[in-house]
Amino acid sequence: MSTEHCVIIGGSHAAAMLAASLRQEGWEGMISIVGADPLPPYHRPPLSKAALSGEKTDSELLIRPAEFYEKNNIDLVLGCEVSKIDRDNKKVILHDGAEIAYTKLALTTGARVRKIPIPGSELEGVCYLRDLGDAHQIRKFLGAGKSAVVIGGGYIGLEAAASMRKMGMNVTVLEALPRVLARVTSPEISAFYTRVHTEEGTKILTDVAIEKIEGGNFVTGVKLADGQVLPANIVLIGVGVLPATELAEAAGLEVDNGIVVDEFARTSDHDIVAAGDCTRHYNPIYDAQLRLESVQNANDQAKVAAKTLCGTLEAYRALPWFWSDQYDLKLQIAGFSAGFDKVVLRGDATQGRSFAAFYFNGDKLLAVDAINRPKEFMMAKRFLAEGKTADPAKVIDESVDLKEVFEN
Ligand SMILES: Cc1cc2nc3c(=O)[nH]c(=O)nc-3n(C[C@H](O)[C@H](O)[C@H](O)COP(=O)(O)OP(=O)(O)OC[C@H]3O[C@@H](n4cnc5c(N)ncnc54)[C@H](O)[C@@H]3O)c2cc1C
Repeated sequence: MSTEHCVIIGGSHAAAMLAASLRQEGWEGMISIVGADPLPPYHRPPLSKAALSGEKTDSELLIRPAEFYEKNNIDLVLGCEVSKIDRDNKKVILHDGAEIAYTKLALTTGARVRKIPIPGSELEGVCYLRDLGDAHQIRKFLGAGKSAVVIGGGYIGLEAAASMRKMGMNVTVLEALPRVLARVTSPEISAFYTRVHTEEGTKILTDVAIEKIEGGNFVTGVKLADGQVLPANIVLIGVGVLPATELAEAAGLEVDNGIVVDEFARTSDHDIVAAGDCTRHYNPIYDAQLRLESVQNANDQAKVAAKTLCGTLEAYRALPWFWSDQYDLKLQIAGFSAGFDKVVLRGDATQGRSFAAFYFNGDKLLAVDAINRPKEFMMAKRFLAEGKTADPAKVIDESVDLKEVFEN
């Protein structure tokens, strides 16, 4: 019988995939997932969509049914935070002082919401959204005719705004920068989302400075620096996340805007792998160090990490991809657009709700944002992974077949 024990710290997308992949790769030792969340791993993307509106129940969110872990002899230690890694003695110490010995360790600690020190942010009704507990908390304040202020015009803020608007709420999104989604996409896509949200009845204010959140015990509104007060029954703050790297850092592992891992998902201690939102890794397609916040990365990197732990070194070289659902819009992003110097549109972004934005740096195609354009997304995903580019003149000409758009 194997004496190996892989302890996975985390309990979300990367942890679930890592544990399942270990078994698939033939790991015969023990596997324990130690996660702070009290629930077995569940899908996070619906938290700003179907789980917020109540269309999906908690059990429908589970990544795998509870029996899966039992059947595969994966021990779930839930509602339990690891407070220390003792690398010398190869054990982890839990918040209650209990210890678990490991032979191999996997860090899938993900990310935590970035908190902002606005006066009044301690009031009841001021919420952040990262886990299911947050979604339950938020749902208490939702309802037709109520008012919501969303602070932060990133994907999660906009998705939550769309969900609340669909529930018949009065929704205002406040963005500090001159446009929504400024950190992650082009001005064309920002303008498109601003138009659609406005058409749907959501108010978007940009270049906004917030003075304070107002209320007694409960939040009642948000006061802007220009004196305007926006009434609110709920204030949802979505201003990004920070990688959860404290454990790794305290254990002396290399950390630099994420736990630094090599192409095999190994940390600076080769008995410890890491995967998902908490890592920073090299991507050979972009010749860049990336820290991604996506289900794709959590899953694909976890598979690589599992292989590594089972002795098969297979380099991680996946193309990043991502999606966001708002109203009737399905945005699918293939690739990573940071560093683009040109955007070419296929279709009209100024009217209707279907087009694709192709991002270039010089002649190199970096990424495609496809809105209600699954074909463009699928092709871009395939061709980008093969290192191919596209011809901008053919991109804009919708009479040219998509296959022809991607040249060698
Ligand atoms: C509302 C919302 C919507 C999203 N929508 C999309 C989307 O549409 N598409 C997409 O690709 N991505 C989306 N994401 C991002 C996606 O969910 C993340 O990229 C993904 O969850 C990363 O998985 P992970 O396992 O790396 O980390 P996480 O999901 O962050 O999980 C980390 C886990 O580790 C636990 N943990 C941390 N420290 C400890 C410790 N010391 N001891 C024990 N446990 C610990 C945490 O409690 C947490 O459960 C969304 C995220 C949110 C919150």
